Amino acid sequence: MSRVYNFSAGPAVLPEEVLREAAQEMLDYNGTGMSVMEMSHRSKAFEEIIQTAEADLRDLLKIPDNYKVLFLQGGASQQFAMIPMNLMKNKVADYIVTGQWAKKAYQEACKYGKVNKIASSEDKTFSYIPDCSDLPISEDADYVYICENNTIYGTKFKTLPNTKGKTLVADVSSCFLSEPADVSKYGIMYGGVQKNIGPAGVVIVIIREDLITEDVLPGTPTMLQYKVHADADSLYNTPPAYGIYICGKVFQWLKKQGGLEKMKEYNEKKAAILYDYLDQSKLFKGTVEKKDRSLMNVPFITGDKELDDKFVKEAKAAGLENLKGHRTVGGMRASIYNAMPIEGVEKLVEFMEKFEEENL
Ligand SMILES: *Cc1c(COP(=O)(O)O)cnc(C)c1O
Repeated sequence: MSRVYNFSAGPAVLPEEVLREAAQEMLDYNGTGMSVMEMSHRSKAFEEIIQTAEADLRDLLKIPDNYKVLFLQGGASQQFAMIPMNLMKNKVADYIVTGQWAKKAYQEACKYGKVNKIASSEDKTFSYIPDCSDLPISEDADYVYICENNTIYGTKFKTLPNTKGKTLVADVSSCFLSEPADVSKYGIMYGGVQKNIGPAGVVIVIIREDLITEDVLPGTPTMLQYKVHADADSLYNTPPAYGIYICGKVFQWLKKQGGLEKMKEYNEKKAAILYDYLDQSKLFKGTVEKKDRSLMNVPFITGDKELDDKFVKEAKAAGLENLKGHRTVGGMRASIYNAMPIEGVEKLVEFMEKFEEENL
C-alpha cells in the first residue's frame, strides 16, 4: 500500500489514523458485531456516536449553550436555499460576494426575496476580500451572508464584516475547525464536511436558537426546516450515519492534536512554508492579495498554461496529487487542510524548487 500526498480541495485528505481506526472497526464496531453502516440510527450504539460527536465539536469550538448543532444532508449547496427559506422574515438579505460559492448562494437567495449584493471582489477575479468595515447594510436585512474562506480563489476573511447588529451567516466549509472561532459572533456557521472534517454527505449547521422558528417561507419542505431537525436532534429521518461517525473520529483526533489553537499554529506553519517559497520564486506566483491569503487553499500559477499542465503532470508522478487549479480559474491550487502533514507541504516545495530549476 502506498498513500500519496493529496492536495485535493474536496473531498480531501483525512487523518490516516482515523482511516486506520475506521478500517479496524469496519466489520465489528465496538462489539456490536456489525459495521456502523449497518446499524439502526435509533440504536444505542449510534446514539452514543452522534452524541459524542456533538459533545466533542462543542468542546473544540466552545459552542455556547444557546446554539444547536445539526448534522444534515444535501451538502453546503442545500444551505444556499435553506438559509433564506428559514431566515427571511422580512424577505431581505445582504450578501458579500467573494467567490463562486458566495455567488451561488446569492443567486439562490434571489429566488426568495430582495437580495442586495453589498460588496464584491469580482472586479479582480475574487483575488481579495473587500473592506467590510462600513458597508451599506440594509435596515431591514434578515441577515448578512459571507463565504468565510474562498476555496476556489484562496482568500479568507481575516476579520468578520461589520454587520451593524444584523445576524451574520457564514459558509465555513473550507476553514471549518482550522483555527478557533468565536461562535457567538455568528447566527449560523455551516459547512460541508468533505473539505476539512470528514467524508462527503454531511453538512454541519451551528445555529443560534432564536433563529430556529416555525415562521418559515410558505411552502418550505419539512426536510428544509431547521426546527424539524433541531427538535429531533438531527434524527428526524435517517441521518448520514457513517459520515457522522467519521466526523466524530476526526473531532477526537483534533482534540488529541491539542485542539484548535494548536491546529491554527500548525496550519500557519504549514502555509508559511508554501507562501514563503512562492514569494521568492522566479517561476511560480501566488494569485491573491497577501493580507487575504487563506491558510487552507493556496492557488498559484507560472503564467504559462502549458508549463502549469506540465507541473501538475510531473507532480502527480512524484506522488503529489490533485494540484490542478479549479476548472474556472486554471493554474494550480494546493489545499492544505488540517490533515495534510507538514511533510506533504515540504515535499511539495522541494518539488517546486526542482521544477523551477529545470524549467526557468
Ligand atoms: C465545496 C464548497 C461548497 C459546496 O459544497 P457541496 O457540499 O458540494 O454542496 C460550498 N461552499 C464552499 C466554501 C465550498 O468549499
